[in-house]
Amino acid sequence: MTMTPAQLERFTARLQAERADALARMAGSDSAMSEVRAAKAGGVADDEHDPEGPTMTQEWSQRTAVLADVTAELHDIDRALARIAEGTYGVCTRCGKRITVARLDARPTAELCIDCARLVR
Ligand SMILES: [Zn+2]
Repeated sequence: MTMTPAQLERFTARLQAERADALARMAGSDSAMSEVRAAKAGGVADDEHDPEGPTMTQEWSQRTAVLADVTAELHDIDRALARIAEGTYGVCTRCGKRITVARLDARPTAELCIDCARLVR
């Protein structure tokens, strides 16, 4: 065990809070995209002459980027929660060394120790 149960509990609570937050952002992004989609569908025939056209496309790609970010974030959070369940949370997935609590405090989804993170990026 690399961490005390109290520390694990604290990180679990934090990850779950971040997960709820990410899900809320994803839901918000989904409904915003549905609105854009509906607006697009309404103006299909005159799309090229639609003065709103480029704005819609911009809005669309911005929403898509946000959604991709949130999806990646959720994936990281789920993996961190899975590592907590497995008892491997806080252990570097590359070298097996312990990740410092200070680093996890800054980034609870970190999978690599600071040394490996430097090598990889
Ligand atoms: Zn490492």
